[in-house]
Amino acid sequence: MAGDTISRLLETLTRGEKLGLVRGAADPAGTATGYVAGIERLGIPPLRLVDGPLGVRIPDESATAFPAPIAVASTFDPTAAYRKGAAMAREAAAHGQDVLLAPGLNLIRIPHCGRNFEYYSEDPILTGSIAASAVEGIQSEEVLATPKHYVANNQETDRVTVSADSSERTLRERYLPGFHDAVDAGAGAIMTAYNRVNGTHMSEHRELVTGVLKEEWGFDGVVMSDWYGTESTVAAANAGLDLEMPGIEPDEQIGGAADEETADQTTDFGALAGGMPDPENVGQFDQALSEAIDSGAVPESRLDEMVRRVLGAIERLDRLDGDRPVGELDTPDHRTLAEELAARGTVVLENDGVLPLAAETEIAVIGPNVHEATLGGGGSSETTPFVTTSTAAGLRDRADGAVTVCRGHPEIEDLSFFDVIAGESTGRTDENKIETEFDSAADAAAGAEVAIVVVRDRATEAKDRESLALPGEQDGLVEAVAAANDRTVVVIQSSGPVETPWRDSVAAVVEAWYPGQADGAALASVLYGDIDASGRLPVTFAPAAAYPASSPEQYPGVAGRASYSEGVFVGYHHFDASGTDPTYPFGHGCSYATFAYRDLTVTDEGAVELTVENTGDRDGREVVQAYVCPPESDIERPERELGGFAAVDVAGGASERVRIDLDDRAFSYYDDGWVLESGEYTVEVGRSA
Ligand code: BGC
Repeated sequence: MAGDTISRLLETLTRGEKLGLVRGAADPAGTATGYVAGIERLGIPPLRLVDGPLGVRIPDESATAFPAPIAVASTFDPTAAYRKGAAMAREAAAHGQDVLLAPGLNLIRIPHCGRNFEYYSEDPILTGSIAASAVEGIQSEEVLATPKHYVANNQETDRVTVSADSSERTLRERYLPGFHDAVDAGAGAIMTAYNRVNGTHMSEHRELVTGVLKEEWGFDGVVMSDWYGTESTVAAANAGLDLEMPGIEPDEQIGGAADEETADQTTDFGALAGGMPDPENVGQFDQALSEAIDSGAVPESRLDEMVRRVLGAIERLDRLDGDRPVGELDTPDHRTLAEELAARGTVVLENDGVLPLAAETEIAVIGPNVHEATLGGGGSSETTPFVTTSTAAGLRDRADGAVTVCRGHPEIEDLSFFDVIAGESTGRTDENKIETEFDSAADAAAGAEVAIVVVRDRATEAKDRESLALPGEQDGLVEAVAAANDRTVVVIQSSGPVETPWRDSVAAVVEAWYPGQADGAALASVLYGDIDASGRLPVTFAPAAAYPASSPEQYPGVAGRASYSEGVFVGYHHFDASGTDPTYPFGHGCSYATFAYRDLTVTDEGAVELTVENTGDRDGREVVQAYVCPPESDIERPERELGGFAAVDVAGGASERVRIDLDDRAFSYYDDGWVLESGEYTVEVGRSA
């Protein structure tokens, strides 16, 4: 369907048919998260859109549960995101879907944000580079990607009402670059956010949707709303929104009259107030849009452009001739990839030498949820895998020495907005029971050479974490185990930063994020050193109060407005500027190998070259990070900005020459356009910020 075919179709389509293409409907097959009905008489096929960033989410069906995106970002390896994207797209195609509602790439501004696991990083260059590769990977398999949520959806508290009040410079330097890179990579669709920016709802933000996204960046795909996130007819249509989602009638959705048999699955909206959109909010682009066109409030040409973009997506997918990719589901390759990415994304935060473990070491595996795999957080990204390897099973399979397994703490229950969460258990109720469980954990730890204690947080879309402390009495569990065995390894499975008050009394700390279906198998390959520990932190770890957005005005906001007054000083930029030491800095992670850097040069084209030498005999993978420090300036600028990075395999005793291209944006600041000040810039190369 070339451009002239689209033009011809536009002449043939009735007003009603056009309206049917710009709003979602219920999928007759019941599989898609969002559905655009086709037009049979003209051979226009329907479009099926499906969540989400961790794996494909189809009701009552399975798909590979890959590690969370934050784990993928921890590889600092864009090819990891490409491979995961391509595999998810093959699985989406196998499930009959056309568009993936992924990647999620909002910048991590708030360490508590309930969706940090679905996102990548606090750094815009890392975010953009990983997101662009995810888009390319997804679209390499005839499935379209949907970067989301455009833009500044950085908190779940009041996400559907809050206004992110930010200067243009801050938006340009922090929150927009990831989306720019995803668009530059050719994304076929984009999803607007639930929140407002500077008072205007993102579904109605003409300046950011038409101005920046479409006109300035040349985005030629479909701009869709988040689910129930189209706030108006005229303003949204005129702002540049092309597709209202989901568009189904309230009684067709989960919890509606037509869905009584699943009534026990409905959300307790009260418990998530401010985090859930109004499910009655549908139909903005239906009859109301037709009337707005008749009255002249929305030009007819705008509807035509919306239709053109939706048909353009179908054309791009080459679906008109009826051919669809067959895809692949749960293949051996996908299982291996899920494990490899989870292992590569695991970050060893501290290691006094206890790791890697020798196969014959006697271990105790302790933790509230070690009998299951940690798949992800709650919400629209929940994926149901075909197979899982629990934490305990993966370690038991790999170990040659004795393995004792013990919970040591009541199970930490998952949080989900698909469940009724009122009356949730915190594990705090029965003190006596916890004491007994601690005692058995300490006994197990004392009887082993190494104690591995696996702790976790609980996070979900629509709700931020209440604190960065581990839920329940897990800090107490770690302390009880560490007191019983001085070779204690703590493994954290979390959505983002957590506080680690016990870190000085343990031998190693490992951040495994939400590893997905391969949980224990991936963890074993890192703990036993089958691969190098090469994950690096894409976010700073620090006590909650040390982060930049620490006043109520900044987060969660006052009177509906969150002031982004920290400006560009997000994440490590803030820790640099305030001179505060984080617990673990951005970019940090320990390898099992040792490296030396030498012969650094900066080329005229703005690249750094250096030699990375592996100074031991163990093969390793190093993540080299290049930071740009601006000259003295009248403008308040961060001390350093990540300009580029490279993950490089270096065999024991060998050296590799590494080249890192530096992003122009790391040298510039934004003032009504990117400004490159003259002066002397310093390029620093190192292992963390
Ligand atoms: C989420 C989106 C998701 C959509 C459809 C919304 O609640 O914010 O990320 O794609 O639901 O499930």
